[in-house]
Amino acid sequence: MLRYKAQEAGGWAMEADSRKLKPSQRCQLCGRLEKKPLSQRWHDCPCGASCSGDENAAKLLLSWVMKQIGGREPAKAWREVRPASLPSNPALP
Ligand SMILES: [Zn+2]
Repeated sequence: MLRYKAQEAGGWAMEADSRKLKPSQRCQLCGRLEKKPLSQRWHDCPCGASCSGDENAAKLLLSWVMKQIGGREPAKAWREVRPASLPSNPALP
């Protein structure tokens, strides 16, 4: 459904292995892992990172995507290095 909705909006979606990335436990700045209870909504890390847990997870996932597409601008990466696991998107040039 997410892939369909992304395509409908002219974008694309990548699936991240959250069991490996652990976006709710891993710091988006330094990569440090810290197990946190679900009730802990704020991310504070000895490296100085301090933001909401949602923001930390979103930035971690964005960094992961950018690494997967080799730092390219996403629409350009779609044309150049579209991962084989992604469906084609006729909405993009
Ligand atoms: Zn950190």
